[in-house]
Amino acid sequence: MMIILREQAQKEQVDKLVQRLQNVPLTVRLIQHDGHVVLGLTGDTSKIDVEHLKTHTIVKDVKRIKEPFKRANRKFHPQDSVVKVQNARFGQGDFSIIGGPCTVENEEQLMLCAQQVKKAGADVLRGGAFKPRTSPYSFQGLGKEGIKLLVQAKKEVGLPIVTELMDISQLDLFDDVDIVQVGARNMQNYELLKELGKIKKPVLLKRGLSSTLDELLMSAEYILSGGNEEVILCERGIRTFETRTRCTLDVSAVPLLKSLSHLPVIVDPSHALGMSKMVLPMSLASVAAGADGLMIEVHPCPNEALCDGGQALLPSTFSELVEKVKKIKSVL
Ligand code: PEP
Ligand code: MN
Repeated sequence: MMIILREQAQKEQVDKLVQRLQNVPLTVRLIQHDGHVVLGLTGDTSKIDVEHLKTHTIVKDVKRIKEPFKRANRKFHPQDSVVKVQNARFGQGDFSIIGGPCTVENEEQLMLCAQQVKKAGADVLRGGAFKPRTSPYSFQGLGKEGIKLLVQAKKEVGLPIVTELMDISQLDLFDDVDIVQVGARNMQNYELLKELGKIKKPVLLKRGLSSTLDELLMSAEYILSGGNEEVILCERGIRTFETRTRCTLDVSAVPLLKSLSHLPVIVDPSHALGMSKMVLPMSLASVAAGADGLMIEVHPCPNEALCDGGQALLPSTFSELVEKVKKIKSVL
């Protein structure tokens, strides 16, 4: 629920009203919007008598937010949110590119790849240490050792790092990780999301393989309602009847999510298409659709990759992609 206050409202009057509302009990957040102070209420607002509230001297209007996602809702927070990590910025017109291998394989592979993506213009380095694999017989990632190598790469090339957290017990290893990734398979792991609501670090939340946009926004709501407001949404393709591509990239998710929510939205065309030749055209389409960033898998030698080699770009192709993305951005 949103309570729009009159411009003349005095601080003491606002404090008194907030106190009264908090007794219900509700969480009240002060938002500045278009020169007005707005009180954003979350919790069970069903007992609030809206007509009575409208008669309060400092209240101009009261609006109920009918969608179940409140904090993620653009009505609750009309301006775009921006997530900043060192020089990388996602949202509010700023665009950043995450690049790196699917998986951290060894020191040589990661350091080389980190230098290559940095040189090409990436803003953030990615790399999986804990890997959610379909088969228990596939390479499961280097785990703790993989995180150590990512932190070493961060120091060597000066890029912030993002990597996937699969279980909250791994969080202690993430002290030097800049962005915590929640993978598609964990998008609805609500206990994990609740814990990530308590941390002070950006979370990159990937859309589940068969999740609706509303479900994605409700998952973001879990993190936001816990007090962590730094959430980046990521479209990474969904399951459809099409078998030519690994998944179907839902480009329409970008403008739709951005109209429903203030959160930054990025696109991962690598996992969506599963084919390196599709990554460049779909990256350009995503940028044209208004994405706030991209996540691209890059490998110094895709043929030798331990995971997802078929979709990894060569560093030279990644460099070309960064240049073309910049051109589309400038046209926009
Ligand atoms: C990844 O980004 O490493 C990954 C496994 O992606 P997703 O969770 O989207 O499948
Ligand atoms: Mn991958």
